[in-house]
Amino acid sequence: MDPLHALTEQIRSFARERDWDQFHSPKNLSMALIAEAAELLEHFQWATEEQSYALGPDKLQEVKHEIADVFIYLIRLSDRLNIDLLAAAREKLELNKQKYPADKVRGDARKYSDYD
Ligand SMILES: [Mg+2]
Repeated sequence: MDPLHALTEQIRSFARERDWDQFHSPKNLSMALIAEAAELLEHFQWATEEQSYALGPDKLQEVKHEIADVFIYLIRLSDRLNIDLLAAAREKLELNKQKYPADKVRGDARKYSDYD
């Protein structure tokens, strides 16, 4: 079993053992995912670019846990919708390559719709 599938199974067990499947609708999970993403963002709010790289050990630990929360909810949401997360990410990366051809956008952070 690949590591992502194994982690998905662990998350399923975690929810099942607590009888939390009933709360894990795609709607609720998408909301929880954004709430965790906001908790991650809070660590960087008002920091300078430079400060955002220079997190102390305690802060880095907190950031690590928020990243894990986001990842866990993302896996859980994908699982509940029977979406293969790795395949979806690969598919989207291919689409992004087409939207943002390297030769056209190199060094330019504008959105694809802002190019001629
Ligand atoms: Mg959290």
